[in-house]
Amino acid sequence: MKNKGLLLVVSGPSGAGKGTVCKALMEQHPEVCMSVSATTRKPRPGEADGVNYYFLEEEQFRSMIENHEFIEWACFCQNYYGTPRKKVEELLEAGKDVILEIEVQGAIQVKSKFPEAVFIFVMPPSMEELEKRLTGRGTEAPEVVAERLETARWECSNIEKYNYILINDEVSLAAERFAAIIQTEKMRIERNGMWIQENLKK
Ligand code: ADP
Ligand code: 5GP
Repeated sequence: MKNKGLLLVVSGPSGAGKGTVCKALMEQHPEVCMSVSATTRKPRPGEADGVNYYFLEEEQFRSMIENHEFIEWACFCQNYYGTPRKKVEELLEAGKDVILEIEVQGAIQVKSKFPEAVFIFVMPPSMEELEKRLTGRGTEAPEVVAERLETARWECSNIEKYNYILINDEVSLAAERFAAIIQTEKMRIERNGMWIQENLKK
């Protein structure tokens, strides 16, 4: 029998570099999986349906809520976002580590359903740098950038609900730290019940 995979919840203010750091981690560790969320946000140039997100109309999203198809869902800056349940549960059962890159309201819901999950908060080296990155990404209109920066303050006030802070100063360093968190979490006694059972209790 296999241990279940780790559920890794990654949050942080918009523009901190969550997506960039997760991508860098997965280049080094292709065995780690990333959950594809559903959203009512419109695709950005270069984003593909089923790859970056499942892009849904609000009605489709609401019907998934009613059918209990989400592990968690939330409204963030006027759009809905949610984690489809089935795929994540299958991957964890198969022993795969799964990343949920989600905002804070969703992370709080995951914590109540999966208390064994690992909660990581990504921060830029400074709040000035956050604004630079979010503006520099060039994907949102100025009023949306302003709304996301305002929301960032509330998100950061929840940092103590998380287990780890991951400063994203340099992408490669942040990805290494992320890998170190995964490695450390896998050594926790409570995650090694199977090994202990097979080797110490026979
Ligand atoms: P998030 O997923 O947290 O919203 P992104 O991964 O989209 O953030 O990153 C926001 C912007 O900042 C992108 O343009 C990205 O290329 C840039 N970025 C990410 N990490 C760094 C870093 N360590 N140094 C400089 N720029 C970065
Ligand atoms: P973006 O529009 O920049 O892709 O995402 C906006 C915010 O929504 C980010 O903080 C991102 O982590 C979060 N997000 C993405 N997918 C989900 C999800 O499935 N659930 C929740 N709660 N938040 C999500």
